[in-house]
Amino acid sequence: MRKKEIERRLGEIVRGRIAADEPIASHTTLGVGGPADWMVFPRSAEELRGVLRLLAENDVPRLVLGGGSDVVVRDGGFRGVCIALARNLSGATIAGDRTIEAMAGETLASLLRLSREASLSGLEFTVTIPGTVGGGVVTNVGAFGSSFADLLEAIVVIDASGRERTIERGTIRAAYRRIDLPEEAVVVRARFRLEPQARDRIEEAVGRNREHRLRTQPLGEASAGCIFKNPSPAEPAGRLIDQAGLKGLRFGGASISVLHANYIVNDGTATARDVLALIEEVRRRVRETHGAVLEPEVRIVGEE
Ligand SMILES: Cc1cc2nc3c(=O)[nH]c(=O)nc-3n(C[C@H](O)[C@H](O)[C@H](O)COP(=O)(O)OP(=O)(O)OC[C@H]3O[C@@H](n4cnc5c(N)ncnc54)[C@H](O)[C@@H]3O)c2cc1C
Repeated sequence: MRKKEIERRLGEIVRGRIAADEPIASHTTLGVGGPADWMVFPRSAEELRGVLRLLAENDVPRLVLGGGSDVVVRDGGFRGVCIALARNLSGATIAGDRTIEAMAGETLASLLRLSREASLSGLEFTVTIPGTVGGGVVTNVGAFGSSFADLLEAIVVIDASGRERTIERGTIRAAYRRIDLPEEAVVVRARFRLEPQARDRIEEAVGRNREHRLRTQPLGEASAGCIFKNPSPAEPAGRLIDQAGLKGLRFGGASISVLHANYIVNDGTATARDVLALIEEVRRRVRETHGAVLEPEVRIVGEE
């Protein structure tokens, strides 16, 4: 199918705008990377299903984006359609005395707000983490010893054949920063089981977590959060990078944060090339000094 035809068909499926040659950088927290051929903003599961079907039938590559807070997009951008879900496929409701159901594009911030208002405990660890429910499921977002996998009661996905499938709690397979989903599955919504708790206890935990993160992480700067997975709980990547003397190391506009060595921050002028060169240099130097192999936690996507 020709480019114009794809654009026309996308326009029939989604009510929102369809952006051609849209810079993906501005839809990510790190702020690097080239344009997507198109970016679409589906507002319902129905629209999302329609877009996925059209792209699959015509072999058009797709990139699903939530808050863009765990990705490094290469400078060549993405040849295909970027499906942007954050704040579009959104909405969250209390679905029982201790359950919240949220759409994939709902932000973690608004999910936490809803749980606090309902005096439901469990999501306090997410305070100040950008990103969405869908991205949080895929990455098994976690902090302070908790993660999404502890709370998920069900995940609803659209699978490769375009069908909606529910993965119930008993069959969810999770690991550190990972939840196993069927291949090519796109998360549509998720259900969380939380614990009723006195509101002031919840507020206290949120406040404590926020204070800790503001003190230890460069939250005011453009970043993608922690760049590397921790090789083990006893060996946090940040400590290894710090001990290798790499805080402040700079490639172009990208540097290792002086506050937290597992963060790469963008001073506003970085390219993906700077970030990726810095990632490789850090891996090389940590291997040399500690013999440890660092694996990226962030997803590196797009074309050179
Ligand atoms: C300042 C800062 C602090 C952070 N702190 C933490 C932390 O403490 N703990 C932690 O775990 N992470 C942290 N992160 C990383 C990030 O916020 C989380 O991993 C978050 O859950 C990613 O969600 P997202 O919506 O931004 O995902 P995105 O970055 O948009 O996407 C991540 C991956 O998931 C895929 N994806 C997104 N949505 C869907 C969907 N609906 N269906 C299928 N695939 C999808 C994307 O294709 C991509 O591969 C931090 C990031 C920043 C910038």
